[in-house]
Amino acid sequence: MCRHMAYLGPPVDLYTLLYTPERSLHTQSYAPREQTHGTVNADGFGVGWYPEADPRAPDLDGATSDGTRPAEAPAPVRYRRSMPIWADSSFADVARVVRSGCVVAAVRDATVGFPVDESCAQPFRGDGWLFSHNGAVRDYEALAERLGTPIPTGVLDARSPVDSAPLFALAVRLWRKGEPLGDVLAGVVEAAWSCSPGRYNLLAADGGRLAATASGDTLYVRQGSDSVVVASEPCDDEPGWRRVPDDSLVTATAHSVRITPLG
Ligand code: GLN
Repeated sequence: MCRHMAYLGPPVDLYTLLYTPERSLHTQSYAPREQTHGTVNADGFGVGWYPEADPRAPDLDGATSDGTRPAEAPAPVRYRRSMPIWADSSFADVARVVRSGCVVAAVRDATVGFPVDESCAQPFRGDGWLFSHNGAVRDYEALAERLGTPIPTGVLDARSPVDSAPLFALAVRLWRKGEPLGDVLAGVVEAAWSCSPGRYNLLAADGGRLAATASGDTLYVRQGSDSVVVASEPCDDEPGWRRVPDDSLVTATAHSVRITPLG
């Protein structure tokens, strides 16, 4: 089981977000506290961020704080490696000068049967949004056959040789139908369960909103006055972390968080 997290709020540098906290994603890569499947997350990592997320964070219905439509978020930038995050000291260095107001990051413990390859490191990216799957699919063949095809055109990550790829393929197809981010993730989890048992903690961002599911593993949310963090486990021992019940969907902007039952 990997660990993943997302941040939405005022721009912050990636080092402060991913390395500085006592139980940061970097620490969680070698010493996770709540990981029940696997022990370390050494099979790669990925960070996706929006370089200039619109600071006028939109509310859940799409209007911004000043009542105007949010500007189209710029395409997310992504950095992925097939090595442990702790072994890439160059990224830690660069992270000090990269700032963003919308970030999705993951450290990977590869599911048995799938390669340790950069193309399998998440978040995936397509059509301007970021997607991460924390979990595993029991019957990959059945799920890939039913959810993975047709592979959406122009979305390379949907072809990655990992069980998360068919989930992403379906997510992109729902996204292209115009479904809101939260509905996309809920739709993917529902379809996935109808094909195969598994653990389906999904996380996605579009530059101004986050959505996440708790379906088989832990998930936490911490809401600040103008920011929100969603993470597989708390990134520090400070108060404010809220455990998301299993079988839930989280939708969030920097100013509002909704937790609703899935299905
Ligand atoms: N199944 C995915 C992979 O192999 C996610 C793994 C995980 O959550 N440990 O990358």
